[in-house]
Amino acid sequence: MKDIATVSRTKEIVKKYNFSTKKSLGQNFLIDKNIIQEVLRKAEINDEIGVIEVGPGIGSLTEQLAKVAKKVVAFEIDDRLIPVLGDTLSAYNNIKIIHEDVLQADIEAVIEEEFSDVKEVIVVANLPYYVTTPILMNFLMYHKKITRFYTMMQKEVGERLSASPSSKSYGSLSIAIQYYTEAKVIQNVPKTVFMPPPNVDSIVVELVRHEHLPVKVDDEETFFKLTRGAFLMRRKTIYNNYQSLFVDGKKKKQDILDILEEADIDPKRRGESLSIEEYARIYGSFKNSNLQF
Ligand code: SAM
Repeated sequence: MKDIATVSRTKEIVKKYNFSTKKSLGQNFLIDKNIIQEVLRKAEINDEIGVIEVGPGIGSLTEQLAKVAKKVVAFEIDDRLIPVLGDTLSAYNNIKIIHEDVLQADIEAVIEEEFSDVKEVIVVANLPYYVTTPILMNFLMYHKKITRFYTMMQKEVGERLSASPSSKSYGSLSIAIQYYTEAKVIQNVPKTVFMPPPNVDSIVVELVRHEHLPVKVDDEETFFKLTRGAFLMRRKTIYNNYQSLFVDGKKKKQDILDILEEADIDPKRRGESLSIEEYARIYGSFKNSNLQF
C-alpha cells in the first residue's frame, strides 16, 4: 500500500471516511513524503529515539516517524480522526495515539510510561498553527526531559523564534524560546505540500535545548513578564512601556529609572534592541526593587 503522505492515498482516506478538514483545528495534511523525510533526516531519528507528535491528522507524518523511531506517541484532539488513525496506522506496532488536547495532557506521565527505554525524547510535529506558541512554551517550560523539537509552523512565527536583537521579527517570543533553546530555521515549506493548502507560508524550525541556560534566572515567569512588558508598544522606549507594566506606587517612575540604571540600560532604548543578557540584568535589579506588576 502507498504511504499516507501522498496525494492519492490522502484523497482515498478522506473519501473513505467522508472526512472534511476543520480550519478551526488547523487541519492541513501533509501530502509530500519527501519533505517529511528531509526533516527526519535532519533530526537524525533512529531506533533509540522516542518521539512525541502533536496532531497526527490522518497519520502522514506519524507513519514516516514510526519507520525510523523506536516509538511514537501522538496526541490528537479531533475525535473523528481516532477511528481513521486506527485504520491507517494499523500496520505499525510502535505507535500510540492518545485522544486528548495536548495542552491538557499529563506529558510527564506519558514520558515515564511510554519512553522508559529510549535514549532521548524529542518532539516532531506539523503543528496546528493557531496554538503553536502555547504548545511550544508548555513543552519548554514544564517538560525538560524533551531535548529537541522539529516543528512545522507558520513562516512568520518561525522567524520570530530564531530572530536576533534589532531585527524585524525579534520580540519577547524570541527571548523566551532562545532562553531555553538554540533555534534555527531548517527548511522552507511550500503551500503545495498540504491538503488543503494553508493561506500562509510555512517553515520547519529546529529547537535544541541548551545544556546550560544562557542566563541565570530563578523565576522564569517573572523574567518573561519583564521581557513581554518591554514590547507592550513596539515603538515606545523601555522606560515608557514599563510605566504601563507596573502598578502605581509612590515612586514608580524613579524606581523604573533606578532598575534600568542598576542594570546599565539606557531608558531611551527600545525593547527590541536588548539582548537576553541585558534582560537578565533588568530582572536582577527588578528583584531588589519595590516595583510590582
Ligand atoms: N500531522 C498531520 C499532517 O502533517 O498531515 C496533521 C497536521 S495538522 C496541521 C494539525 C493537527 O493537530 C490536526 O490533526 C488537528 O486536529 C490537531 N490538533 C489541533 N489542535 C490540537 C490540540 N490542542 N491537541 C492535539 N491535537 C490538536
